[in-house]
Parts: sequence; C-alpha cells; structure tokens
Amino acid sequence: MTKRLSPKMVAAYLREIGIDYIPIPPPGGRPAPAAHPAVATVTGTEAGETLEDIRKELLSCRGCPLCNGRRTVVFGVGNPHARLMFVGEGPGEEEDRQGEPFVGAAGRRLNQWITRLGLRREDVYIANIVKCRPPGNRAPLPEEAASCLPYLKRQIRAIRPETICTLGAVALQYLLGTNEKITRVRGKWREIDGIPVLPTYHPAFILRNQTRETEAFADFDLLAERLHLK
Ligand code: URA
Repeated sequence: MTKRLSPKMVAAYLREIGIDYIPIPPPGGRPAPAAHPAVATVTGTEAGETLEDIRKELLSCRGCPLCNGRRTVVFGVGNPHARLMFVGEGPGEEEDRQGEPFVGAAGRRLNQWITRLGLRREDVYIANIVKCRPPGNRAPLPEEAASCLPYLKRQIRAIRPETICTLGAVALQYLLGTNEKITRVRGKWREIDGIPVLPTYHPAFILRNQTRETEAFADFDLLAERLHLK
C-alpha cells in the first residue's frame, strides 16, 4: 500500500534537493497550478514566514557535521525589516559562545563601518553562510555551506532587504555561487533574487591588512549612495 507523504515530509525533501521555495505568481497574474499541500508550506517562506519561524527550525538542525561541535546556533541578529543585510562566513569562537554573529574583533570593525553609514548595528541585519562554528575557525566546506544556505535564503526572503553586502571571499563564493576573486569583484554590484548585492572585504581581513581599508570604505560609500544614507 502506498502511504501519502505528509506536507512536512515533502517540504523537507524539496529542501534536501535544493528547492527551498516555489514562486507563486502575483494575484491577478497566471493562476498557480494545483499544488501538493507541502508546496504551500514551502511557498509560505514567500508568503510571510518570519525570522522566528526559521530560527526555531534551525535550533534543532543536524543537517551537517558542524552541529556536533557547536555551543550555540548563531542564527542572525538585527532589524527584521532592515534595508541593509550583511552576510559573513560563519561563527568564530566568541560568536559560538554568545550566539550572535560578529561580536569579536572583526565585529567591532564591522560596527565601525556601519557607523560610517550613519546607521547603528541594530538598524541592519547580520547573518552568516553557516550558523554553526567550523572547527578551528576554518572556512566552511562546500557541503556544509550547501546544507545551511537554504536557511540564509529564507532569512533573506523574510527580511527582503533593499541591499545585501557580502563580507569576504567565502560569503561571495557561496551566496553568489562564484569563484571570482574578492579583489576583482569587491565594489561591483551583483544580484540575487532581484536584490542588489555588493561584495566587500571581510573585516577580519582588514584587521590583518589595514592599508586596504580605504577600499572597504569606498564600498561602503556605494552602499550609502544606493540607500540614500548620510
Ligand atoms: N566572522 C564571520 O564571518 N562571521 C562572524 O559571525 C564572525 C566572524
């Protein structure tokens, strides 16, 4: 006898194969084809899933081996209606301890850059490619990033920021799916799901390469211009 799959099981399967949402045409547009109830669950991300919904689900995530070493899940922090969203790489030791992204030395530098925009940390939203700390602060492996990326994409859809700024090579590589060098791509607008994305350097890189901060400042000027800040 064949058993009907529950909507939750179908939604989990769709996410597993990389489908984390299915766009629905706007009202008045083409009628949506009849959908399995799970598709409605998945489209819920478009139609009003909140950050809290996503956070609750993530807390019990065991989607990749990084969950074994975590003290906390570092979900993201900031204004759920932020116009500007930052995406970093993954939690370090301090972030893993406190459960909040960018709270160490790199975070303090990021805060300074946010202040340059005339904004406060609580005005923007900050998240990472992976939500659990990679051991020894290594970069996330492709399979770890692939497992975690649907959560980030759902966060982006819940917030719908006007712009996204990726911090460093890892965020650039995994969010935009490119192997281009950060030195070439920084300061050049890209796009994801119709949202302009500006890659810039990771603040930790700037802490080690202080002379390059003028380039990060130039990138932040582009953000300010795009968002009509200052
Ligand atoms: N570096 C990151 O990429 N993310 C953090 O949360 C902290 C440091």
